[in-house]
Amino acid sequence: MFGRKHRRMRHELAEIRRHHAEMINTCMREEQEPVPQPRPVEAVTPVVDDFPPTNLRAPTRDEVEGMMMRRRMPLVLNGEVHACPQCGTYRDWIVFTLGDEVWLRCQDGHQALEPRLDTAWFDRNSGPNETRRATFEEGLRHLGHPKT
Ligand SMILES: [Zn+2]
Repeated sequence: MFGRKHRRMRHELAEIRRHHAEMINTCMREEQEPVPQPRPVEAVTPVVDDFPPTNLRAPTRDEVEGMMMRRRMPLVLNGEVHACPQCGTYRDWIVFTLGDEVWLRCQDGHQALEPRLDTAWFDRNSGPNETRRATFEEGLRHLGHPKT
């Protein structure tokens, strides 16, 4: 019984050695064979001379006379809700810039320079500018505040 177990173990050991030798031979053959190298890819740099195209670019502040947005929510300036000095409304403003100035216009068409706001505030609050209007009146109409 002991001899049979011992023979079986020797047989298994011989199998393991044979298998090991095959693996080493296989590895050595693979090392000798040239490993296929990826072909060098030519660097293709697209030629883009004007991106994004002019018709898709938002106008910059230098390219337009002014920018405008509609603000339906009340404006809180220095901790107080701002109201139109002429009619007292405090919602639904058109906020527009002219150069470095920021102006407020109520829904009744009263407008006044607002020195507590600047163009940086306007830029932070306006979101992307996607449309361009030829005149101030067209801008008002587009934003739902036709001139009265
Ligand atoms: Zn007003």
